[in-house]
Amino acid sequence: MKTSLAGTPHGVQLLHDPLRNKGTAFTEVERDALGLRGLLPPHVHSQDEQMARFLASLRGIADPLEKFVALCSLHDRNEALFFRVVCDNVDEIMPLIYTPTVGLACQRYGHIFQRPRGMFIGVNDRGRIADILRNWPLKAGIIVVTDGERILGLGDQGANGMGIPVGKLSLYTACAGVNPALCLPVTLDMGTNNETLLNDPYYVGLRRHRVTGPAYDELIDEFITAAREVFPDVIIQFEDFANHNAFRLLERYRNRICTFNDDIQGTASVAVAGVLSALRVKGTKLADEKFLFLGAGEAATGIADLLVAAMVAQGVDAAEARQHCWLVDSKGLVVKSREGLAAQKLPYAHEHAQVADFLSALKALQPTAIIGVAAVGGTFTPEVLRAMADGNQRPIVFALSNPTSKAECTAEQAYQGTDGRALFACGSPFLPVQYGGKTLVPRQGNNCYIFPGVGLGAIACGATRITDEMFLAAAHTLASQVTAADLDQGSLFPPLANIREVSARIAVAVAEVAYQRGLAAKPRSDDLRAQVQAHVFDPHYPAYA
Ligand code: NAD
Repeated sequence: MKTSLAGTPHGVQLLHDPLRNKGTAFTEVERDALGLRGLLPPHVHSQDEQMARFLASLRGIADPLEKFVALCSLHDRNEALFFRVVCDNVDEIMPLIYTPTVGLACQRYGHIFQRPRGMFIGVNDRGRIADILRNWPLKAGIIVVTDGERILGLGDQGANGMGIPVGKLSLYTACAGVNPALCLPVTLDMGTNNETLLNDPYYVGLRRHRVTGPAYDELIDEFITAAREVFPDVIIQFEDFANHNAFRLLERYRNRICTFNDDIQGTASVAVAGVLSALRVKGTKLADEKFLFLGAGEAATGIADLLVAAMVAQGVDAAEARQHCWLVDSKGLVVKSREGLAAQKLPYAHEHAQVADFLSALKALQPTAIIGVAAVGGTFTPEVLRAMADGNQRPIVFALSNPTSKAECTAEQAYQGTDGRALFACGSPFLPVQYGGKTLVPRQGNNCYIFPGVGLGAIACGATRITDEMFLAAAHTLASQVTAADLDQGSLFPPLANIREVSARIAVAVAEVAYQRGLAAKPRSDDLRAQVQAHVFDPHYPAYA
């Protein structure tokens, strides 16, 4: 591809522009035309050679956090090379730029800080947020925003939570090809109640406790209004907000702007895709299943809501569909007689006697599927797995809690505990397991199968809203990418290496729903796949003509 020189900075300025820099890969012609002669060592390397050099050096580093820092500095100096490295080595690099390494990076953010990325907006910025957003030099198409209060399973990380929007947006580009120039990570610094951080001299955020109540809501509202004013078509993804704000904010904004919450809706979509794959093995329909969740938070109620939507789409009455989903939280089975239940749990508070613990609930309800999302490790005990195996020919067992130490059970335990019959999916990666002479390959229900494609589709059609119907379409599309060979080896998701194709198909499905529902601002072309593809960033260097 040839790119015009118009608007291209020259000389040192170009070498310091990560969106355009090619480093030693600038050709002889480009070095003359762009004022680079003498500013680079003489030998011209290809991008492939640069990638090989970077990977060799990365693989020589033992500590994952140091690898993270090396990747960040590549990202800061040469985005195309960074995304070539990520895209061509997604299995190896994803755990370094996202979970689990990103969690550690957030905890150590102030200590490993080198250059800012994204925007920090604090409680002291009330009244001038639009002006601050105008400092961003590009036209943002997607904002991932966090307030740092519930970073992964690590709790309040305050402004250090910035690692998450940065990592998530890298995945938009790596997994779906969203143009990095459109990506704006934002951290809203509402203060922190993490005393360790407040006492850390290298902490990057405000030295104050969290703001709450109307002051919190007003800041969020000003931010949303300002973001829409400065970047009118922007998609805003809420990320790692605490439970008590996540549901509220989603409800407040989902029908007003183009927004979604990945912890709730993205998780739901990937989990439903896993269930759909499991049903292909069983030869059953959703309405034949009974789901018992361990956990009743963002992930559990998000998944339950989308399962209900999927059943309704198959003609099941909504009230009847809800009866197929049961929740257990830290106080036991969620039942109608319990008082003070959070709003998101109420649809699943069915008529039933109180039950104190998960195993008793399982024995009382006899589910066909258990979905662990309580972030309490080891809760799918041998007794739980035995009960599932006794009651089901092919029990569905999803241990989705992260990180690995919080997983309800390992893949090995799931297969051992069910005589190899479990249809298993996990939130953390597990290695293949040998069972009964067969190699079973558990795959991770990773949200990165879903949100990058949803974002790409929304950009391609100019979506004005992101709806649950789109997440359901994404789930069906993801499940359709699982082959018979995948299912045969126990994999309920496609290999991660196929992620770009999966994302492109999800983008088409999402755009299709947007057009059907009148939620797309851009004209529709005859070839929706080509329309999506036109928005895909290619990490190979352009030639500057
Ligand atoms: P959350 O804080 O919103 O919800 C946690 C829920 O677990 C709450 O309802 C809480 O009451 C319940 N709980 C806590 N202790 C319990 C106990 N001892 N017994 C029963 N219930 C208990 O968190 P979340 O966003 O829903 O995430 C939950 C877990 O799911 C995390 O580990 C997260 O990493 C994981 N997750 C995985 C994926 C994925 O695999 N794709 C996606 C999202 C979240």
